[in-house]
Amino acid sequence: MIHTDAVVIGAGPAGLFQVFQLGLLGLQAHVVDALPEPGGQCVALYPDKPIYDIPGLPACTGRSLTAQLLDQASPFLDADRLHLGQQVTRLEVSAQVPLGQHRFTLHTDQGLALCARVVFVAAGAGAFLPRELALPGLKGRPGNLHHHLHADSGAPAPWAGQHLTVAGGGDEALHAVLSLLQAPSPQAPAHITLLHRRDQFQAEPALDAAVREAMQQGRMHLVLGVPQSVQQADDGRLLAIDLAQADGTHTHPTDHLLVQLGLSPKLGPLADWGLPMARKQVGVDPATFASGVPGVFAVGDINTYPGKKRLLLCAFHEATLAAHAAAALLNPDAPQHLLYTTTSPLLLQRLGRA
Ligand SMILES: Cc1cc2nc3c(=O)[nH]c(=O)nc-3n(C[C@H](O)[C@H](O)[C@H](O)COP(=O)(O)OP(=O)(O)OC[C@H]3O[C@@H](n4cnc5c(N)ncnc54)[C@H](O)[C@@H]3O)c2cc1C
Repeated sequence: MIHTDAVVIGAGPAGLFQVFQLGLLGLQAHVVDALPEPGGQCVALYPDKPIYDIPGLPACTGRSLTAQLLDQASPFLDADRLHLGQQVTRLEVSAQVPLGQHRFTLHTDQGLALCARVVFVAAGAGAFLPRELALPGLKGRPGNLHHHLHADSGAPAPWAGQHLTVAGGGDEALHAVLSLLQAPSPQAPAHITLLHRRDQFQAEPALDAAVREAMQQGRMHLVLGVPQSVQQADDGRLLAIDLAQADGTHTHPTDHLLVQLGLSPKLGPLADWGLPMARKQVGVDPATFASGVPGVFAVGDINTYPGKKRLLLCAFHEATLAAHAAAALLNPDAPQHLLYTTTSPLLLQRLGRA
């Protein structure tokens, strides 16, 4: 069980800036995100598209904005406080624990438990989870069925030296195939098959062209078909997929299956945490961004209030006011002076720039 001042649910732009603002006010935060990397929509949906409406940044991409937010938050956010690839599934409130003490316990689907004095829901449209491929008859979660590209850590990938089938026909699948073709030998599969229902991709023309060139060169193969059933070993391992193809059903054996059908946001368990919600959004007080549950704040795309705009600029404003409101709640007797990062020795010390 990790004890901390604050837990931020979501490492999108709102969540990352929330950590920074809390850090300035001397509050320690841990962040949890369902995605394997931080950045929320900016990285998951439009990493390379330019954004033109961040104050003082005439143009930046979703990925570069995330890199800057991480850099800015780095005095307060290290790898031990950033928990990626896990969804917060439960939020428990211990009503007998006084407000301001560790009354919130959050649980993730990976077994992590965090105990916090305040909680910030920065969950956007929900947790971004990989879209599943319909595999009729599939039992359990086979160890050789994957939904994420292996992190380039230098360690061998699970499919190293084996036959990997990548399912999908969009940007994600084609991008995965091209990265795998360039992977160094400890990570590279011996054979790559792209499985898609038809010989047309819904992907950027450059990705489409690169994959077709790799096919022509025989560096990978395309198999067309729609899964009808699966064959599994006694230990649950996936052995083959039976595919409906133009000339009947054929069996496609594979060592590993990597599903790359994109991500979709799932509000999921958040809806059951007792937070007053309207149309899948958490209602907040626009002066403090406090939700209807004392000690729980909501910032960014997940919240709603009169005049709400789902813009990055608004998320940053909300995170700032929410941090100040939380500091006032946790230290009710301390004077809440507004300090400037330019002139306050305390803030400069917290930022490591004294
Ligand atoms: C195509 C596109 C272009 C855009 N362009 C602009 C633009 O030009 N300017 C602009 O201002 N805005 C733009 N936006 C909007 C902007 O991206 C959003 O306002 C912003 O991303 C909201 O940030 P957020 O942190 O609130 O939510 P998100 O970015 O959605 O991040 C939320 C994070 O929370 C995680 N999460 C949710 N639930 C859980 C859970 N239970 N457990 C763990 N993790 C969880 C999710 O996985 C996600 O990573 C654009 C949006 C899109 C889709």
